[in-house]
Amino acid sequence: MRYVSTRGAAPALDFEGALLAGLAADGGLYLPEAWPALGAAELRRLRGLPYAEAAALIMAPFAAGSFTLEELRALARQAYERFGHAAVAPLRQLGPNDWLLELTHGPTLAFKDYALQLVGLLFDRVLARRGERLTILGATSGDTGAAAIAACEGRANLEVFILYPEGRVSEVQRRQMTTVAASNVHAVAIEGTFDNCQDIVKTLFAERGFRQEARLAAVNSINWARVMAQVVYYVTSAVALGGPDRPVAFSVPSGNFGNVFAGFAALRMGLPVERLIVGSNRNDVLTRFFDTGAMSLGTVHPTLSPSMDIQVSSNFERFLFELFDRDGAAVAALLAKLRKEGRFEVPGDHLRRARSWFAAARFDDEETLRGIAEAHRRTGAVVDPHTAVGILAAHARRPAPEVPVIALATADPAKFPDAVERATGMKPELPPALADLHARPERRHLLPNDADAVRSFISARLQEAA
Ligand SMILES: *Cc1c(COP(=O)(O)O)cnc(C)c1O
Repeated sequence: MRYVSTRGAAPALDFEGALLAGLAADGGLYLPEAWPALGAAELRRLRGLPYAEAAALIMAPFAAGSFTLEELRALARQAYERFGHAAVAPLRQLGPNDWLLELTHGPTLAFKDYALQLVGLLFDRVLARRGERLTILGATSGDTGAAAIAACEGRANLEVFILYPEGRVSEVQRRQMTTVAASNVHAVAIEGTFDNCQDIVKTLFAERGFRQEARLAAVNSINWARVMAQVVYYVTSAVALGGPDRPVAFSVPSGNFGNVFAGFAALRMGLPVERLIVGSNRNDVLTRFFDTGAMSLGTVHPTLSPSMDIQVSSNFERFLFELFDRDGAAVAALLAKLRKEGRFEVPGDHLRRARSWFAAARFDDEETLRGIAEAHRRTGAVVDPHTAVGILAAHARRPAPEVPVIALATADPAKFPDAVERATGMKPELPPALADLHARPERRHLLPNDADAVRSFISARLQEAA
């Protein structure tokens, strides 16, 4: 499979190239040159298969030329064997046609594990073949950093540095990063905000000399392999509810548009999807787009669902590329306008087309708390604030009563205990595998909000590791 850039001005790469590159040279994101077909026969073949088995079959066309089906099968087994539920991504019934897809059984209890556990292995395997090492550098406001660390922990060809804002991530999130003992993992607290952390990362990536010398790489959600691995649970859950013979809808709490774009990829491949419902918190840039056809930047408001507190949805660029029939120049022009004027608008027929696939709704913190309480009262399910936004959106925008709606549970409630306790009066407990998290020793590095200090820290650690 070849991969092309959404801005149409970078060379096409194979799967391995797209995996290692992350961002394309023209600033765009990689997408497969053509969507592999997932026809009725292929979907029927997936019925009843274990998750890792289905994952290998679904991903094989994307990775063709770089990984064989056999290799993918072995990697997927390894990636998902440590998950806390034998079904990996189980469905739970909440109502007559309402379902919850639990993506909370990975090592860090958020859906990001489903992609990152596999992507860590893909990186490690490619690097081993090439006899190379890479340094993963990233900034986190919580979930991504913990998932990236869990994915890279102990991998021989990866060194990982994650910057997080001191005092501004939850205790569970911090401990998930600082209690990992592997010597290739470095969780670094920065005396500053998440934006400061991100600025330091951008500064260091922009330093050509350092970037090459340290062999810096990123595992953020712009990496195609993360989207690819997420396609799997859309397909397996739709098949479990009767696909390809019964279309389903999905409801997804969204920030970066990375998770729900994987659902759109499944739709483009041929999975019968009636509608993709996007749930926003107060940071509703996506909902405003699907309401009006205009994307405009505002300021970021902190909410109870912090993993969706962003104003630029980076993966939306992939959707624009599809919406504009893969016209890279048109996508580049829209994004240039957004950067320059803070706003762009798509023509009416494009908005109509977008709305034939997507619907969206926004919910503020009060509504989110009521959503958690309501879900608990009606179904017994205890859900985290992100998941609650998705469930609320599912109720508000379901296409028809007879279409099953699958809401994606993106984090375990124990990751956000304060909000859950406020809504339900109950403090959610960590699952058994993490029950002793608060007793584990922490390794903490605290650095000033200063790129020079971080550069020196990374150089010194890389020297020790060499
Ligand atoms: C990252 C995250 C989201 C948002 O996912 P996107 O791919 O950025 O849209 C939602 N919920 C949780 C718990 C997350 O960690």
